[in-house]
Amino acid sequence: MGYSSEVYELAGREMEQRKLYAEQELEKRRNRLYDICPRAREIERELVTISVSAGKRVIMGSDVRKELEILKGRSLGLQKELDELLISNNLPKNYLEEWYVCDKCGDTGNIDGRMCSCMKNLLKKTAYEQLNRSSPLSLCSFEAFSLNYYSKIKDEKSGKIPYNYMQSVLRFCKKYADEFSPESHSLIFQGGPGLGKTHLSLSIAQTVIDKGYGVIYVSAPNIVSRLENDRFGNNSERKAETEQLLNECDLLILDDMGTEYQSKFGVSVMYNTLNTRLMTNHPTIISSNLSAKEIQEMYGTRMMSRIIGMLDRIEFTGNDIRQLKRRERRK
Ligand SMILES: [Zn+2]
Repeated sequence: MGYSSEVYELAGREMEQRKLYAEQELEKRRNRLYDICPRAREIERELVTISVSAGKRVIMGSDVRKELEILKGRSLGLQKELDELLISNNLPKNYLEEWYVCDKCGDTGNIDGRMCSCMKNLLKKTAYEQLNRSSPLSLCSFEAFSLNYYSKIKDEKSGKIPYNYMQSVLRFCKKYADEFSPESHSLIFQGGPGLGKTHLSLSIAQTVIDKGYGVIYVSAPNIVSRLENDRFGNNSERKAETEQLLNECDLLILDDMGTEYQSKFGVSVMYNTLNTRLMTNHPTIISSNLSAKEIQEMYGTRMMSRIIGMLDRIEFTGNDIRQLKRRERRK
């Protein structure tokens, strides 16, 4: 897929950093070896001298083959001595070579003029990071999700004990994240504000990213206004990139659906994104404060039938945690 020039630039910079890091680390290892074993420095110097003098002999021309044979023999002998030095110091055989992130291309991003798979992955990762920039990823974890804010008294309206019920929701979300695969189901988290929907969806995002999947976590207002700005700012390149990432990432989490600015454009962004992903079997998690009736009113029947028919609904219940926390702080 095509990416914006910004993504190419950032990925290119990261690739240069990788190469530089490999060189710097090699230099450090080399100096450490010289410290514990000064003979290694001498051998390396001699090896350089040999290759320089081999070059000179070739230029001068006199009985080249014979002389080169002698130099080659010396060089092999020195190399063997160096290898043995590494072994006797319990160091790996490749200790004096660059340790690349990608051995296929030596962190250049190219193999014979073609883009290496590591560069393709880096471009994808960079594009996701760019989109996720405004999300508080890595701030939330399942471990930090406290059930203590949920009441242990039965809620008459729902007939549930919020503490017990949310414990099962937490367990479900953790299992979903741990077992995530591109075949996972799509979900909708529904319930009033401050019930932990964002916390748990961020925790899922973090776990699934750690498993190596491409995850985009965006709030509905952010993504709608980004696409709208790109459309009106004639930035069709970036708009196409964003749409493609939304459609193709392994997991898309659309937070706060229904809080975006109400417009035909916003409704069509939400519907098209969800519909495309459902049609191509890409899992999506939506979280929303809206009730089913409100979703129907806001987005229409088509959207509602997709959600009811194809998303597993997870209801969030309890008291607004943000309010409880504020009250606690005031005490
Ligand atoms: Zn590579």
